[in-house]
Amino acid sequence: MKTLQQLTRPNIWSLAPYSCARNEYSGREARVFLDANENPYNAPYNRYPDPLQLEVKERLSKLKGVPQECIFLGNGSDEAIDLVYRCFCEPCRDNVVAIAPTYGMYQVCADINNVEYRTVRLDDDFQIQADKLLAACDDNTKVIWMCSPNNPTGNNLDRDEVLKVVEQFQGLVIVDEAYIDFSRESSIARQLYKYPNLIVLQTMSKAWGSAAIRLGMAFASQDIISIFNKVKYPYNVNLLTQQQAIQRLTDITAVEHWVKLLLQERGRMILAFSELKICKKVYPTDANFFLAKVEDAQKTYDYLVDKGIIVRNRTRVTLCENCLRITIGTKEENSELLGALRVML
Ligand SMILES: *Cc1c(COP(=O)(O)O)cnc(C)c1O
Repeated sequence: MKTLQQLTRPNIWSLAPYSCARNEYSGREARVFLDANENPYNAPYNRYPDPLQLEVKERLSKLKGVPQECIFLGNGSDEAIDLVYRCFCEPCRDNVVAIAPTYGMYQVCADINNVEYRTVRLDDDFQIQADKLLAACDDNTKVIWMCSPNNPTGNNLDRDEVLKVVEQFQGLVIVDEAYIDFSRESSIARQLYKYPNLIVLQTMSKAWGSAAIRLGMAFASQDIISIFNKVKYPYNVNLLTQQQAIQRLTDITAVEHWVKLLLQERGRMILAFSELKICKKVYPTDANFFLAKVEDAQKTYDYLVDKGIIVRNRTRVTLCENCLRITIGTKEENSELLGALRVML
């Protein structure tokens, strides 16, 4: 791996971060806060929230087996994705390499930050080959993007190949695990201590049933997390989100229950969908959705919209011609989809 200084944009490396009022005092127990121009009324919403979200991180740290200093929290994973570009990629000079197809935000953020986005097509079974990804890199490649289970394909990437990329690449490797709670594979985050160039992304938006609160996580070395913390908006995760996250993290039995139900339904849906006349193939999945090839994706999509049922048409995505991406819903919702498709002409 190159040094973190070599991988970080020079202006970011030398940045003196904004110092917020609440950061400047420390140690003594304080009672009277007249330092941040807050309104003394309307508690608890009158006070700025914890800029480092330590209570949320304390709980996450126990749950994930990752030290608190190695956790970044943001306004969705999307904030962490954007920060990767803003911290490490010099516009018009550096580039990133990503698998294709995958989650669209990696490219959108590259385009916004004016960073070249190189893609390496997955195999026909949606697997990666480490050598192909590494061959797409040059001296200005700062980041390799992977996603496992991958969106929109649903499959886990081969762990040995992922580790080969992490071990052989000179820059940073992101593994987005938004769907890890639905997967048979364990999180790669447990291996962070071995890999100073690895960044693992997770989110509360999927298995945790909390897309509305916008809370994404990045797990990485303390040095990488310090750079994110320096660049992020001072109060990037609001109080309501922190409170709701703490509540969710306090009772994980609900999440476990949801995951169990969704995995059961996933099994049922895959079998039933495969039996449909329009279905050509259902791809293997480790996520809370599946990708299916049908006779005519656009026609099926339009038909379902007409019935008030919305799925994701991925037909224009690399390797996904005539594919629909279907999220697992409640038993009733899933049955409604199947019922509608069974009577489709
Ligand atoms: C849904 C999803 C996310 C979640 O993004 P948030 O901003 O945390 O809601 C991240 N990565 C992938 C691959 C996803 O599919």
